[in-house]
Order: sequence, then C-alpha cells, then structure tokens
Amino acid sequence: MEIRTVGVLGAGQMGGGIAQVAATAGYEVVLADASLALAEKGKAKIAAILGKQVEKGKLAAEVVTALVGRIRPASGPAEFSDCDLVVEAATENVELKLKLFQACDEAMKPGAILASNTSSISLTKLAGQTKRPAEVIGMHFMNPPALMKLVEIVRAVQTSEETLATVRATAEKMGKTVTVSKDAPGFLVNRILVPMLVEACFTLQEGLGTPEDIDTGAKLGLNHPMGPLELADLIGLDTVLAIADVLHRDLGDSKYRAPTLLRNLVAAGWYGKKAGRGFYVYDDKGQRAGRAL
Ligand code: NAD
Repeated sequence: MEIRTVGVLGAGQMGGGIAQVAATAGYEVVLADASLALAEKGKAKIAAILGKQVEKGKLAAEVVTALVGRIRPASGPAEFSDCDLVVEAATENVELKLKLFQACDEAMKPGAILASNTSSISLTKLAGQTKRPAEVIGMHFMNPPALMKLVEIVRAVQTSEETLATVRATAEKMGKTVTVSKDAPGFLVNRILVPMLVEACFTLQEGLGTPEDIDTGAKLGLNHPMGPLELADLIGLDTVLAIADVLHRDLGDSKYRAPTLLRNLVAAGWYGKKAGRGFYVYDDKGQRAGRAL
C-alpha cells in the first residue's frame, strides 16, 4: 500500500515533531488536536522551529515554505478520511486513546493504517477497539522526533505482515532506523528507560543528592548525554508517571512503583519543560533557569 497522506492526532511536542518529520519526507499531513485552534498552534510552532533553521542558514526559505504548506491543521479525527496512515500522538491516557481510536477508525477509509505513538499502552487492546485490527500498529517515535533516529515499531497480536512492512518502509522514508518490539508494557525502550528515571526520582526523594548531583552523575559517570531528571523533564513528568503506572499495574511487580515525589509534581501541574517547571524551572525560551525544589 502506498502512503501519500499522513494524519497526526495530537499537536503537542511529539505530534508536532512527527508532523514535521512526515512533511519533511514529502508526505501531505493532516495535523489534528482537540480543536482547530490547538492544531493551528501546533503548526505555528513547527513553522517557528523551521524559521530558526532558515535564520541560521541551515534550510532554504522556499524549502520551509513548501514543507509547512504540506501541513493542514484540522479540528479532529473526522478530517482523516483521505489519510492512508494516521499516527495518534495524544496524551498518554488509555481511556482517551480508546475513544480516539474508535473515532479515527470510523472516519478513516478501509485499509488505511492506524498507528499509535503511545509509550506504554497495549496496541492489542487499542486494535481490539477498531474494525481494522490487522491495520493497527505502534509507531513509537523518540523525543524530539526530528532529531532522534529510532522508530520502535510495536506489533499488536492482530497486526498483519503487510501493515508492518508498510510502516517500516514509511519510517525508513522518514530517515529513521526501525526496531520491532512485541506488545508488552513499555515495549522495549521504555521498559529499560522508565525504571531508571523513576529510580533517579527515588534517589532525589531520599535525599541522596541534589538534582544536579544526580544528573551530573549519570552524564559524567555513565556517559549518558542527559541526566535522568533532565530527561524526565523533557519527556514530561505526566507522561513518565503514566508509563510507570502502566508498568506497575500490568507487570504486577512492586519494583515498578512510582515515588510520591513524582506523583506530587504531576499533581501540582509541574509537568517538566513543557510546563516551565518540573525538577527544574525553565524560562520562556525553554532554557533551564534553576532548581524547582
Ligand atoms: P503533549 O502533552 O506534549 O501533547 C499531547 C497532545 O494531545 C496535546 O496537544 C493535547 O491537546 C492533545 N490531546 C489531548 N486530548 C486530545 C483529544 N481529545 N483529541 C486530540 N488531541 C488531544 O504530550 P507528548 O509528549 O506529545 O505525548 C504524546 C504521546 O506521545 C503520548 O502517548 C506519549 O506517551 C508519547 N510519547 C512521548 C514521548 C516524550 O518524550 N514526551 C516520547 C515518545 C512517545
């Protein structure tokens, strides 16, 4: 099956990045959120990011104009009727995604592929909500999608070989390297990553070191490009907690439990960089401006 038009549902940090990557690869993109205004805001953010690349001389202005012109903002899943592939990238919440999957399934044409960028939620369960289970798959981009090379493809129990082959080819056309994981809580990448982020939060909660000590320890001691608290702030603490809760509930092992500190930061609305405050505080340009606690 040939993919020409890609729908993206959720115009937040991941959905915006996925729309940018798809438009860069030459696809027509329909970018939807909970309202047209949110989708337009998402498109404006992509235009601003690419505008900076033009100012730095890294991209030609005509290239960016054409690329941004390929992104059409939309008010919701009802506008995905001409999409060959939809990537759902809304908030990490199972009830929301089940509802959105049904809405996408109703709007999309027969044979079109419905993918999710979920970090942890069962694709098999999402596929079971639709009338196209063989065309449902996980297409897990990393953050930020424009820079990170990996797309982790997740096969639901129902996913067909043809869907897998089409999504693999699409991700490769977007310049990505693909891995394939089985459908299990957190799949592969987050099964490894999230327990480490949560453990870093426990070390902070227990007062073993300052946030800077913890992050510097991982960067200089483990050669990680970012510290775990910085990375959790970048991912979004709401997303990290949602993934940790899925791992804990679905794997049933207390080693995956989330610390009270993480739960409190999320309850306070301190979601990390996107909220301007998480473990650290950020100025309006997204630059780190100090410690939050
Ligand atoms: P985000 O908070 O930046 O964006 C979520 C978007 O979903 C928002 O724009 C919000 O308005 C939209 N949304 C909420 N309800 C909606 C609805 N009813 N209809 C349409 N849109 C709706 O979150 P994010 O970091 O972009 O995460 C999105 C998805 O990507 C999640 O499933 C997350 O697990 C996954 N993911 C995140 C990362 C990361 O590092 N943040 C990495 C890989 C995958």
